[in-house]
Amino acid sequence: MPAIVVLGAGVSGLTSALLLAKQKGNAVTVVAKHMPGDYDIEYTSPWAGANVLPMSLDKDSRWERRTWPELRRLAAEVPEAGLHVQTARVLRREEDVASGLKAAFVDGLFQLSPWYREVMDNFREIPAAELPRGIHSGVEFMSVCINTAIYLPWLVGQCARHGVVFRRAILKHVSEAAAMSHTGRQADVIVNASGLLACRLGGVMDRKVQPARGQIVVVRNEAAGIMPTTSGCSDGEDEIVYVMQRALGGGTVLGGTYMKGNWDANPDPNIAVRIMKRAVETHPELTGGKGIEALSIIRHGVGLRPLREGGVRIEKELIDGTWVVHNYGHAGWGYQGSYGCAERVVELVDEVVGRTKRESKFPSI
Ligand code: FAD
Repeated sequence: MPAIVVLGAGVSGLTSALLLAKQKGNAVTVVAKHMPGDYDIEYTSPWAGANVLPMSLDKDSRWERRTWPELRRLAAEVPEAGLHVQTARVLRREEDVASGLKAAFVDGLFQLSPWYREVMDNFREIPAAELPRGIHSGVEFMSVCINTAIYLPWLVGQCARHGVVFRRAILKHVSEAAAMSHTGRQADVIVNASGLLACRLGGVMDRKVQPARGQIVVVRNEAAGIMPTTSGCSDGEDEIVYVMQRALGGGTVLGGTYMKGNWDANPDPNIAVRIMKRAVETHPELTGGKGIEALSIIRHGVGLRPLREGGVRIEKELIDGTWVVHNYGHAGWGYQGSYGCAERVVELVDEVVGRTKRESKFPSI
């Protein structure tokens, strides 16, 4: 029975652990400094919105393509996982289209003819008559919003059900994980899902990884049904506008920012005011047409997206005599690519332990 140690308990580590544990014959241990329930600036996953807005620029990318069917299934069939169906509305501002949609955070999502039209259900171009002022064009499609405060613990529960053992530890070097399998044996494979901290982890020290700071405001006000997001805004250079209501009473997330290289853990009050003002302007039903004073704030938050120059790293590497399968650097799409990436992790682990290629599918829960 191969002993596998997954380093990291964010959405990347937990989804990898779950798919590995579902393959009979793997003994999986998760080792992490932070676990679901913790809120810490070094731990990105709890801070995410989170929803599905395809971002890849590569139409053949499997990460988001493979993940969407599973998230849609969870929303439809597993209410306790904390996902619900919402309509995504993607709006391209006139000035962003005129400038060639070049802003740092304007990615595959805002493409004029997006590849994901074939993938996302109920896709439609928004007719010009329905577009707000200043908006060049837009699309709508079926998406989901994930209440991360429910979904991450749910993933832990699913892992436990499939025999995964959880341990808390702070590792200085990735190779230390080899001695942490609950089996008492040396690990055959380590899965490195250390997120942003991959830039500080001994044996990895990936200098291409940096934060893309996301500031949000979570409110009690409701905005169910539609999740609008626009390609930029006029009053903040690295700021974006999005609104999404989380499932199961998780509140409504108002966003946000995309500040590359910024490690500041403290919510900036000026940015918070801008976020709230834009949200009530674009989504007047939040406050019944009133201003930001009618917002009921649950919390201000900051999370650091693990942005990696050149994109996500999913590959195997021999470090100090143990195979390490990396799965980090998901920037702002860690949830919506989680199953596609974890599936690749399973394939790489299989290569390491010498298993033949198996049919790739998610066994039902
Ligand atoms: P993390 O969640 O950071 O987990 C890393 C894990 O590794 C932790 O358990 C940590 O303790 C552990 N670890 C690291 N180093 C060590 C060490 N040395 N020793 C022990 N343990 C260690 N994504 C979407 O798909 N949709 C969205 O709508 C979305 N919205 C977002 C909004 C905001 C404001 C932010 C900040 C992010 C958003 N994201 C979204 C992105 C998403 O949150 C990330 O891509 C994802 O959470 C990354 O998960 P991870 O598991 O790779 O890293």
